[in-house]
Amino acid sequence: MSVHFRKLALIGIGLIGSSIALAARRQGLVDVIAISTRKAETLDEARDLNLGDIYTLDAAEAVRGADLVIICTPVGAYEGVMRAIAPALEKGAVLSDVGSVKGHVVRTLAPLVPEGVSFIPGHPLAGTEHSGPSAGFPELFAGRWCVLTPGPEVDPEQTDKLAAFWRAMGSQVEAMDAAHHDMVLAITSHIPHLVAYNIVGTVADLEAATQSEVIKFSASGFRDFTRIAASDPVMWRDIFLTNRDAVLEMLGRFSEDLSALQRSVRMGDGPALEAMFTRTRAIRRSIISAGQETAAPDFGRPHEAPPVPGKSIVREHGGGDDA
Ligand code: NAP
Repeated sequence: MSVHFRKLALIGIGLIGSSIALAARRQGLVDVIAISTRKAETLDEARDLNLGDIYTLDAAEAVRGADLVIICTPVGAYEGVMRAIAPALEKGAVLSDVGSVKGHVVRTLAPLVPEGVSFIPGHPLAGTEHSGPSAGFPELFAGRWCVLTPGPEVDPEQTDKLAAFWRAMGSQVEAMDAAHHDMVLAITSHIPHLVAYNIVGTVADLEAATQSEVIKFSASGFRDFTRIAASDPVMWRDIFLTNRDAVLEMLGRFSEDLSALQRSVRMGDGPALEAMFTRTRAIRRSIISAGQETAAPDFGRPHEAPPVPGKSIVREHGGGDDA
């Protein structure tokens, strides 16, 4: 299905908003892109990066005449944004978002959506630990899933059009109900972030000498947790405030399984540990076969070749060939 929108309004222009602007423009999916955000500095940055055609601090002005509006702010800002834009939304427009939780978004926004506007919440399962307009890139969604959670009242043609928009930006699209989305994301994304925040937080509380050793030897395991734990604090605060029930449900299961592992370690139960680690290894392999991760060693990080014996190992600027 070919897809085209006249005017796309992006409310919030951080990592996700700017990536949509770049991908939609590159694929020729829209004529005009209007950008609105909260701070004048952020709007200036978006303008300097040439992300759109219209720049305004007035969200209502941005959505006026738009046939596609996507809210790209942290979820905690949604209600205020919606109250500002609701009177200016055009009949026939598609209203969507990119928030990482969906049940709360539906409960907050659905009652405020004007008659004649198709409200189709969305969540691209794509991101990095970077934030702001300059963090975006047009390939962010390539090969990644985008989940849409349209209510039963939405015209399926509008959902198909929005799905085609995401597909044209490289995503694979699946529709599901909001509660199911929140349960799946609690275990695949929210709990892993909570675990990472906790491990890195534990290290932050260690006494200085031990902490500097952890940082020095961080190439094993811990380093990967620090990447996750560097994610945006406001966005993640909002996720845990708004997906509380699903997170607590999954955290309960996680804690039970952790206690079972703790017991296996305490009892020296090798077969139980090995059986568990064999099951988890199979999950990693299936993620690689599903194209959601690279099979390259060490996540494809470049590695410097070890020094050749007899050659000088002094490097002025620490440069070197990638292995
Ligand atoms: P981000 O880089 O921090 O950008 C957030 C944007 O929202 C900024 O432009 C910020 O602008 C603006 N904003 C904040 N409060 C606002 C308000 N009250 N009114 C208007 N604009 C406001 O965040 P992001 O990573 O793009 O995330 C945006 C959304 O995408 C979140 O809902 C998040 O759950 C979802 N998401 C994120 C990821 C990820 O990995 N990052 C992945 C999937 C989905 P100012 O500087 O003007 O405040």
